[in-house]
Amino acid sequence: MNASQEPSRATRRRALVASLCAALGFFSCDGGSDTSPAPAPPNLSEPGANVLLLVVDTLRADVLTPYGGGADTSPTLSRMADAGVVFEQCRASSPWTLPSMGSILTGLYPRAHGAGLVGIERCVNRRPEGKYGAAAPIPEEGTKANRLADDVATIASTFANAGYDTYLRSTNPYYSYGLSDDFERAERGSATAEKVVDWGLAELRKRDASRPYFMTLHFIDVHTTKLSAKGMQQDMALFEREGRPPLGAELRNWALYTDEREEFEPLLDDRFRMYQACARYVDRQIGRLLKSIERMDTGPLYVVFTSDHGEEFRDHWDVDIASGHTDPRRNWEKVLGIGHGQNLHQALTHVPLVVTGPNLPAGLRVSETVGLVDILPTLADLTGVELLAQTDGRSLVPVLAGAPSERPAYISESLAYGREKTAFYTSDGYVLIQPRSGAERPQLFDLARDPTETTDLYSAETDRARSMLDALKRWESRLASRQGERSVDDAETLELLQDLGYAGDE
Ligand SMILES: [Zn+2]
Repeated sequence: MNASQEPSRATRRRALVASLCAALGFFSCDGGSDTSPAPAPPNLSEPGANVLLLVVDTLRADVLTPYGGGADTSPTLSRMADAGVVFEQCRASSPWTLPSMGSILTGLYPRAHGAGLVGIERCVNRRPEGKYGAAAPIPEEGTKANRLADDVATIASTFANAGYDTYLRSTNPYYSYGLSDDFERAERGSATAEKVVDWGLAELRKRDASRPYFMTLHFIDVHTTKLSAKGMQQDMALFEREGRPPLGAELRNWALYTDEREEFEPLLDDRFRMYQACARYVDRQIGRLLKSIERMDTGPLYVVFTSDHGEEFRDHWDVDIASGHTDPRRNWEKVLGIGHGQNLHQALTHVPLVVTGPNLPAGLRVSETVGLVDILPTLADLTGVELLAQTDGRSLVPVLAGAPSERPAYISESLAYGREKTAFYTSDGYVLIQPRSGAERPQLFDLARDPTETTDLYSAETDRARSMLDALKRWESRLASRQGERSVDDAETLELLQDLGYAGDE
């Protein structure tokens, strides 16, 4: 069949969907309203396509094969990268779940959607004195997280408004802070990736196929590495090391070994290899999910693979101490520079973003900086769904189409532990990390030359730092600011958070 004589499958499908939409009147297919993004180039959008949003909690980009990870952690993601688009430089809006997921689900920065600990000295898990030593000296102010503000439009309400059935399987307790409210079909609670995938497939099998679906699946396994140990023997086998205890065995409490460098380093390596094995396990489950959906043939589908933040394995300990960084966990965990929530460096803020779907260019790699705030406007643009409100992000569809880009700046903010600061990423590849307290010094890194941020250029490039600070102030003055409602923390949620290493409110 000659393509020039026959409309493409995508064109025929678009025309069919457009006529169905017009007949049913359940959503806008042309995106023609004041709040809609600019219309997508016709060869990229697929109005009415289904959407699958896969969020792998705590997954830093650089351990993944399409992002140069040294080990084979991600065969499924590699296949997705070959079939779709890899955004090489995606910035998380925050280094921990609640504010960062808030940004994925609203397209707003934490200061605008209100979820997290916006604008205060903070520590989400101030432990009771006696269990881990003295209570932390920070914060002077609140220790409770805020819920997502009630008046923001979410990705679920946006797609539901356009006639989509919306599904969520969440496994992180922070969804209780307003993140799951707008999904029509939602199940919460800890579960392995295998169970999450099973849930998603079961829902797809029984859905009403006359309506498109928007499904979010959130995987907690990489965050809570012991959770899935039973089901990931084959994945752990790939990362065992001779002379070390088998992965999945009792991981010793590394806090006890802070001052014993010789014992601590192998322990850190054990943790990292377990982390890689978990990434591989989740990737394998996602592979099963995608193959099953393909067999079910649920129709045109955009798949987004991303994470809310990364995980640090003492990557930036030295450079942070030199800048006066304070982590309030030091009095009870004793090990700094591990976990997440404590700083705005790349180990925590550089996350994967890979998108596949109808009409997208296969194997495209986009090097310009993008952010998690872009996911909602991009998906709305690709599917012809009308945005319900402005976002802080932008549609990446013009970037995919090769249009000249304004290359805007991005920020990360809202720490879980320590004094608040803002990371300001500019289009020339630099990041200024600006503390809001005079007790810490700003930091400046050239991410293009120094992606792991080993050399702080703040003192050497004062002119650049000053002009970036001016630009940040101008840029911030345009951002909305909103304080979320204080959460009413129920005992069950707090217990779940404690299991994850968070919480322990007084
Ligand atoms: Zn998280």
